[in-house]
Amino acid sequence: MVPPNTLLSPGETRILICDELAPAALEIFARRGFEPEVRTGLKGAELLDAVRKVHAIVVRSATKITREVIEAAEELRVIGRAGVGVDNVDTVAATERGVVVMNTPTGNTTTTGELAIALLLAISRNIAAGDRRVRSGSWNKKGLLGAELTGKRLGVIGLGRIGRVVAERAMGLKMEVVGHDPYLMRTGAGSPISGVDLLDLDSLLATSDFVTLHVPLLDSTRNLLSADRIALMKPGARLINAARGGLVDEAALAAALDDGRLAGAALDVLAEEPPSPEHPLLGRDDVIITPHMGASSHEAQHNVAVGIADQISDFLLEGVAHNSVNAPAVDSETLRAIAPYVILAEKMGSFLSQRTGGPVRKLEVTLGGEIASKDASYLSLSVLVGILNQSELGVNRVNAPLIAKDRGIRVLTNTDGDSHSFQSLVKVRASTQGGEESHLVSGTVFGRAPRFVRVDDLHLDLAPEGTILITTHSDRPGVMGRIGTILGDAKVNIRRVELGASETGKPQFASGFLSLDSEPPAEVMDAIRAVDGIEEVRLVRL
Ligand code: NAD
Repeated sequence: MVPPNTLLSPGETRILICDELAPAALEIFARRGFEPEVRTGLKGAELLDAVRKVHAIVVRSATKITREVIEAAEELRVIGRAGVGVDNVDTVAATERGVVVMNTPTGNTTTTGELAIALLLAISRNIAAGDRRVRSGSWNKKGLLGAELTGKRLGVIGLGRIGRVVAERAMGLKMEVVGHDPYLMRTGAGSPISGVDLLDLDSLLATSDFVTLHVPLLDSTRNLLSADRIALMKPGARLINAARGGLVDEAALAAALDDGRLAGAALDVLAEEPPSPEHPLLGRDDVIITPHMGASSHEAQHNVAVGIADQISDFLLEGVAHNSVNAPAVDSETLRAIAPYVILAEKMGSFLSQRTGGPVRKLEVTLGGEIASKDASYLSLSVLVGILNQSELGVNRVNAPLIAKDRGIRVLTNTDGDSHSFQSLVKVRASTQGGEESHLVSGTVFGRAPRFVRVDDLHLDLAPEGTILITTHSDRPGVMGRIGTILGDAKVNIRRVELGASETGKPQFASGFLSLDSEPPAEVMDAIRAVDGIEEVRLVRL
């Protein structure tokens, strides 16, 4: 298996497209050097078999990427969903396996917003009921009296991407628009659209002639329009839901329509899709139901297909995960700028994990100088990956936080203005349980080459690569010479030696960091350990 943190060449990368995608996606993959395999409609054993050797899977909403599928796909690195909701992907299983899951959250924003506007117009003027009547042979408008939108209040619940599209268009229809979005209200950011006031939910419901939902389905939003909230709605109001089923208590909505308290509802989504034939909202003239077609436009399908093809290509070629729902977001420019520090940070983690006798339980990462202005969390994550990679296979930036949590490793990240005359300085202290053992390493980058400049109290200039022999020995003549002879006799070349006061802080001892060209066999290590004056010898592989 190829280690998950390395990049592949397009020729050796296998991409499987499982659902129908706009052809533009294939053109993008081809332009970027990939030759994806398209196999739609796979299920069960066939799907498990097809994913076994692939590095990337692309789906829309039909194919279900379950835990079983993810576990069968041993080489998998990324799952791309052409669309917003990732309900058809087991993101927990993907995260555990270090597989990036990405979606295309903006590709169908306009299209879905326009559907909400279409539903708003259609329900206000009984368009669907009128059409049904004509189809049944009747040319009679009795009972189809509608409501004008001009001057009416539209309450937009959720002023995110789609909510804003709807609010802006509704203002063009001369509606008075108000919004509710707890995120905007909490941050005090105010309304994102001039002329749209933010209200608390109950006030919005009580005063709006039309209410439209644009929030995700989360534990906190499930049943957001409960029976109690529906009861708060202004008499004669109409409800539009082009977000998710499950946000609305459908039985309570049917009851409010039956009572004549509400005048209508237009729903693109239902709690159960497709609904059972007995669903209380089906077959009513005051309700429009469309089959979850909010994103169904040529433009949106083109956008999400192109978006996912670009994102997957960027990820496979450059390691940048745009719109990932489970990996840290770093744009490609930042990633390029911090790349040598990412390598440095992983090496520091790897070094500390090998240097520390017991399992690391606490990591303190401090950034100083220029690097302190960059994304500190990404570098801490890289240190963590370096630490965990020593004992666990397949650790990467996706699953490292989960594994760390499991093992009780705490990561603290700070910035500190002092970079000790280096342009940038990364300091990492790793401690075992209760702080019984603790080591510090500081590093920087010269040009684009990572360097350790301090290990505990010893200042040095160490290229963190290859095999490094660390000694703690009596600070007296001959000890180092003896080690050099043993290594020379074993034909192990010493490339560089760094010597200094002991990193243990014991004055009578010194520390040595010997960069070796090859790894000494076990008997050579035993011979070194037996040298008079040696306190401790350790090999670190970086
Ligand atoms: P978004 O993340 O940009 O916006 C969601 C907004 O909802 C955010 O601003 C958030 O702060 C807000 N929010 C969260 N909890 C809230 C609450 N309790 N009350 C009010 N606001 C709350 O998402 P988006 O791109 O605008 O999409 C919105 C939803 O539309 C998606 O979650 C998706 O489920 C749905 N959608 C449906 C279709 C369709 O085919 N019908 C297509 C695309 C998207």
